[in-house]
Amino acid sequence: MHLISWKKISLRKEYGGLDISNIQSRNKALLSKWISRWYSERSSKWNQWIRAKYHCHIGDSIEEGLLGKNLSHMMSNIFNLASSNDLRLRLNHSDFRWSLGDGSQILLWFDTWSSSLPLLKLFPKLFSISLWKFSSLKIFITLFKEYGTCSTFLRKIPLREWEKVEVTKLWDFISSEKLDNSPDQLLWIHSGKPFIVKDGYNVLEGTLNVPRWDFYFIWKLRVPPKVQIFLWKVFTNSLPTAQFLKHRIGSDFHSAMCKWCLTHEESVEHLFWDCEIASWAWNFVRKWWGLNFTKHSIWNSFKFCSGQNTKIAWGTIIAVTYWIIWLARNSFIFEGKRTSKKVLEFTILHRSRSWCQALNLISSKVNLCWTSNPMGSILRPNKVSQIGVYNNHRGFCGFIDGSWKKATDQGSSCGVGGYLQDIDCNLLFFFSGPSTASCALVCEYNALFFLLKSIGDSPLIHKKFTFFFELPRVG
Ligand SMILES: [Zn+2]
Repeated sequence: MHLISWKKISLRKEYGGLDISNIQSRNKALLSKWISRWYSERSSKWNQWIRAKYHCHIGDSIEEGLLGKNLSHMMSNIFNLASSNDLRLRLNHSDFRWSLGDGSQILLWFDTWSSSLPLLKLFPKLFSISLWKFSSLKIFITLFKEYGTCSTFLRKIPLREWEKVEVTKLWDFISSEKLDNSPDQLLWIHSGKPFIVKDGYNVLEGTLNVPRWDFYFIWKLRVPPKVQIFLWKVFTNSLPTAQFLKHRIGSDFHSAMCKWCLTHEESVEHLFWDCEIASWAWNFVRKWWGLNFTKHSIWNSFKFCSGQNTKIAWGTIIAVTYWIIWLARNSFIFEGKRTSKKVLEFTILHRSRSWCQALNLISSKVNLCWTSNPMGSILRPNKVSQIGVYNNHRGFCGFIDGSWKKATDQGSSCGVGGYLQDIDCNLLFFFSGPSTASCALVCEYNALFFLLKSIGDSPLIHKKFTFFFELPRVG
């Protein structure tokens, strides 16, 4: 039994797959790059060498220039791609057009730039009497402006009346385009950008312009790869829960019910959010971190974490919690061991502490502080500025910040600010204002004293608070 289709696995990670390439599509996409380079690098040595070898003109497209030639294996593959009728990856010459720069790369008659057709098709009679068939657009415009006519480009004998009319039309057409000094750019019309292998691959796999996968961030979490793969299964709904197995195996599978609570089917949603074991875990994490979230808002809860390290640690905590719920469920199903609430909480604390220590997010000595004030125990790169005031029982959390800068004149250049929130993240009060501190340390203390005074003046005074703080590094 397979958990997920090969097609989904071969998607790139940002689209919800595992980025295991489809080799055939990858090979075609890589070969396709040579087709775009055939047109965009005409003056390079490799291009000149191949054209000389196969007797092609500079204006020839691959599908015309190499037709019927005795080609090498690689050139024959490139030729087949360029002339194929594959509706997905179209790479005919007409599938490329130039974005106008200085006009030096663009062949006047053969390339497409402003209209949908090359001039060769729009003005076939003028082309037939043209003397410089492989001139660039830039040279043509320069000479035309210099001599006021393009007769040097056409045959020497005087032009007939209808030819003069055609020439005027041609010049009107060309002079409506504005050249500048930037290089010309060859665009692939199916992406509107220069051809890149990634776009070619996405077209072949049907994933060009597919919206990004909502849970792509799991690959950015700083957790072991096996946990990332586990989370990938959770969010692609391919984790072998009882409901999943029942759906895949059918009536032979005994039951889709959750073995833990025996009240609901064991779906991913039930197991990780609604089952008793999940509510134990998440309630613990809510209280421990002083953050309120639901299954819908958990991945937005990062905004409550200040500082990059705190955000990384919080992502790790979420991953650890999912992982521990899964391990506890497996240990019950396969070994008959029912994890207690206490053990579950301890495991989350212990496991997340090891992982955060391994990432250097918390000090190896942190223990009590990690349990009671995780945000406060996370190392901040600049060490100053934030102090958490915590109450283990009521879950009030205060954040303060003092900012001090040596002033060049007599004016004040420091200030304090902060806020106090309850366990549901309701803002109780906030403050901010200038400070007269003489150094960074005093500025931090000013902020702390302001917070304490505000608590003292408020009805919160009869609550007990525990304080954790870091002294700023001064001097
Ligand atoms: Zn359950």
